[in-house]
Amino acid sequence: MLTIEWSASEGWQAPLIKPFGNLSLHPACSSLHYAIQAFDQSEFLECIRRLVKIDQDWVPHSDSASLYIRPTFLGTEQSLGVKKAANALLYVILCPVGSYFNSQTDGLSLWADPKYTRAWKGGTGNYKMGGNYGCSLFAQYEAEDHGCQQVLWLYGEDHQITEAGTMNIFLHWINEDGEEELATPPLDGIILPGVTRQSILELTGKWNLHIPCQDKDSQLSSRIAKELTDIQHGRTPSDWTFLV
Ligand SMILES: *Cc1c(COP(=O)(O)O)cnc(C)c1O
Repeated sequence: MLTIEWSASEGWQAPLIKPFGNLSLHPACSSLHYAIQAFDQSEFLECIRRLVKIDQDWVPHSDSASLYIRPTFLGTEQSLGVKKAANALLYVILCPVGSYFNSQTDGLSLWADPKYTRAWKGGTGNYKMGGNYGCSLFAQYEAEDHGCQQVLWLYGEDHQITEAGTMNIFLHWINEDGEEELATPPLDGIILPGVTRQSILELTGKWNLHIPCQDKDSQLSSRIAKELTDIQHGRTPSDWTFLV
């Protein structure tokens, strides 16, 4: 694992790659985002590169599996108070993972109930903060009780569609003007700005979107999935540079 400690008095410490071990955390540890000065992004990416290099034998060579990289940043201050932490830890762990969903289905069944709200204006829904996910579990269990796989998150009195589970969503439809359209909710503070969302926008922006959708093999979602996995596996057209 990669660990980088931070303290208010000394700032960021030197990054360390060490054998995986348990973290001892104080119960009051809190996630923070812009509370302290961010670690340099390109240096962090280089640290992750070195970590992956050490663990490269764990990288699955398959289209349906990948090496999951989880960076986490949390307060480690030894105090119960709810305040800005004076000590924090940025760490990264890795794990080979299979497909996120158990079965390769043609789609996911979604459960939508407006009594639940994933994120709200002025909240933290546009950050990957731990607190956002605990409360979403109630809705997820209810979805499963109703035989659905994921929650479709609605927002506001008019039940705007925002995200599904922990995924951004796209609607591919013929709009009111009879045009084929691919739409996704805007990043207005309640949407997590996912890299998959951004990749799909950049990819399809180059296509003009006239895609025959009669048969399953030519579905837009299959074409996007294929192009993204091609990029991830280095089978890319020469004009394409990976988004990371
Ligand atoms: C992680 C996450 C996403 C997807 O982000 P990616 O960068 O595409 O993996 C979308 N919505 C929520 C709420 C998430 O937590």
